[in-house]
Amino acid sequence: MSKKFNKKEFINDVKANVRALYRRNLDEATQQQIFQAVSYTVKDTIIDNWLATQEQYEKDDPKYVYYMSMEFLMGRALGNNLINLTEYEDVKEALAEIGFDLNVIEDQEPDAALGNGGLGRLAACFLDSLATLGYPAYGCGIRYRYGMFKQKIEDGYQVEVPDNWLKDGNPFELRRPEYAKEVKFGGYVRVVYDEKTGRNHFVQEGYQVVRAVPYDFPIVGYNNRVVNTLRVWDAEAVSEFQLDSFDKGDYRKAVEQENLARNIVEVLYPNDNHYAGKELRLKQQYFFISASVQAAVSKYKKKHSDIRKFYEKATFQLNDTHPTVAVAELMRILIDEEGLTWEEAWDVTTKTCAYTNHTIMAEALEKWPIELFSRLLPRIYQIIEEINRRFVAEIEARYPGNFEKVRKMAIIFDGQVKMAHLAIAAGYSVNGVAELHTEILKKQELKDFYEMMPEKFNNKTNGITQRRFLLHGNPLLAAWVTDHIGDEWITDLPQIAKLKVYADDRKAQQEFMNIKYQNKVRLAKYIREHNGIEVDPRSIFDVQVKRLHEYKRQLLNILHVMYLYNQIKDHPEMDFYPRTFIFGAKAAAGYRRAKLTIKLINSVADVINNDASIKNKLKVVFIEDYRVSNAELIFAAADVSEQISTASKEASGTGNMKFMLNGAPTLGTMDGANVEIVKEVGEENAFIFGLSADEVINYENNGGYYPENIFNSDQDIRRVLMQLINGTYAPNDPEMFRDIYDSLLNTKSSDRADTYFILADFKSYAEAQRRVEEAYRDEARWAKMAMLNTACSGKFTSDRTIQQYVDEIWHLDKEVIEA
Ligand SMILES: *Cc1c(COP(=O)(O)O)cnc(C)c1O
Repeated sequence: MSKKFNKKEFINDVKANVRALYRRNLDEATQQQIFQAVSYTVKDTIIDNWLATQEQYEKDDPKYVYYMSMEFLMGRALGNNLINLTEYEDVKEALAEIGFDLNVIEDQEPDAALGNGGLGRLAACFLDSLATLGYPAYGCGIRYRYGMFKQKIEDGYQVEVPDNWLKDGNPFELRRPEYAKEVKFGGYVRVVYDEKTGRNHFVQEGYQVVRAVPYDFPIVGYNNRVVNTLRVWDAEAVSEFQLDSFDKGDYRKAVEQENLARNIVEVLYPNDNHYAGKELRLKQQYFFISASVQAAVSKYKKKHSDIRKFYEKATFQLNDTHPTVAVAELMRILIDEEGLTWEEAWDVTTKTCAYTNHTIMAEALEKWPIELFSRLLPRIYQIIEEINRRFVAEIEARYPGNFEKVRKMAIIFDGQVKMAHLAIAAGYSVNGVAELHTEILKKQELKDFYEMMPEKFNNKTNGITQRRFLLHGNPLLAAWVTDHIGDEWITDLPQIAKLKVYADDRKAQQEFMNIKYQNKVRLAKYIREHNGIEVDPRSIFDVQVKRLHEYKRQLLNILHVMYLYNQIKDHPEMDFYPRTFIFGAKAAAGYRRAKLTIKLINSVADVINNDASIKNKLKVVFIEDYRVSNAELIFAAADVSEQISTASKEASGTGNMKFMLNGAPTLGTMDGANVEIVKEVGEENAFIFGLSADEVINYENNGGYYPENIFNSDQDIRRVLMQLINGTYAPNDPEMFRDIYDSLLNTKSSDRADTYFILADFKSYAEAQRRVEEAYRDEARWAKMAMLNTACSGKFTSDRTIQQYVDEIWHLDKEVIEA
């Protein structure tokens, strides 16, 4: 396929790069300098393929998908690029020859953490799959100067440290100033009547302008020479000479524009599944969307003259509502700049935009105040008003006299612009991200929209890339799988089902569990080096890693640990299989209860890990700074996958899929994609507990439930809860965890008590945990279970997800790069 790897040439290139970049010889270079030099060498290969891809696309003139997302949680590039170039082993060997360890070199690279969690990581997996399947695609996003904060744990508390990921330079990015675009904010709209056409023209004046400069990141397909592009936009001030004549010499304005440019791409908002309504956030959204839509239109016009057929060559996938201004921005360009009528522009827009819904939780829904929106984006607001006027007319025509329908579906209502409603009204597709989630959308959250336009609604169950999360993250298991069934699973994950024939094979079971053990040793080393805690790789590694959020119920997990600790203390003679509970989670910087939960986990860890009387039967570890790079180590080493969200709240989850791929059975609720995981692997190979989504929704629709009944009738639970407020885990400040206690029992706040049904599910969870222990004690049974999880994970590749998007939404043609 690609040019054959030449070890000698590679070493020479690395040497030359170390000289050119740092004026040093190999033996004087730091590991970081070697990382840079190796990356530039690899980039050379990539650029050959990037050019070849561009040439092929240029020739074939295909349709592109523009995957628009505020977040791309890419992680590290070097190892992944080597994997996809199929040069990982070659480079490892070449580096060893000159005295360097590729693993150590990889560790020099900062994670590209331009995302919070699942939504951003999904975007990254999708780009990998698009390139591997050979579909023309652009990722469109923001080049934040600071990505997701680094998490330090100090005295058990989360401390946020800025993530200066660009400080040593980013070897893989390419600045493309020739494709810069201008983005306008504020000012007012002047209406000019054109006598010749008899139409009004809309001119934005008195605005501030920012230059958007794209940086391109190569997205390398697996072993196919395809290199697609992630294009993220940086903001620069437009120099004062380029102000329009109206503003010439306006010094104050020049300074304001400078500040706007500096602030706009400064930092990623660290909220996951939570809308904060900040003005700067809306600026970020319009900034990257305006630049991306302008770029897509420019690209189309290079080859085509009829803008009314734009949708034949471009489709926009909106990753949640964050990029939804794309709808109005495309309308603006088509009407104001391309001269289309409203009807023509609407026809193009509604054939171009498609929307993915990621959550049903009310606090995540984006609703912008009209005042803010119209001040910042006056022309865009005008367009949305007109979209709303026509949409409301449609609702009224469909449901005459039914004002309730207008109230529930209008795009602008009650002083707010509702982005989800705009995305649904203008999108040709609305998809949920797991079967259960899509059904809840249709039956509950978006019921009225579904009733009015059922043809738009569809499901695309999320997926993950096996190239990063098995081939790169778990090389031992990857090699074992390939030994047994060949390597086609790398691009065709369902083939991994061929492992099923080994599920009862004692030798295969032992090999499989021995690999798990080695991965646990590798993680134990990481924990020793990063936490200073000694964990026993022979204990059960029970893992919950994901964003810290009440609905994900890390609290249920740690309360259960407190319960187990009580049991062991009460019954020291009890036969208890040693367990290591591993947590990893960042909390949004302003999410107080989530941060207090981190403190609770660390406080419980302190007490338990230092209690010699329990003889290491229990360990609790909070891994600092959970992110893509350490996630790869964690999934490979997990025995148990904790997926314990309140049923109906987790739209899909993707962490659950990564655990499954790596042979960790799910301990979880029937929520999100857990439902589909259980369907694939069989109920007997998972540990399911808790209320169903229907039951939760039923309670919610009827005013909640009464956790105090459980508190009063169950002394184990009562004891654990009392330990939150009696100083057991905070001897110097017994009130420390009062807020958590209150959240479960009291209605001091306006919230219902125990909004997330933790007490309701506690006993069922504890029972499921007992089943986990029992299953683990039977080595053969556990090995079979673990292996079947890997073997049944074929559905959850993002290659499948992307193929479904292509077949059912985007309708792209596969490209092949000719030699
Ligand atoms: C996969 C992944 C997530 C999403 O995890 P969920 O359990 O689905 O919430 C978040 N962060 C990182 C670093 C991931 O790799």
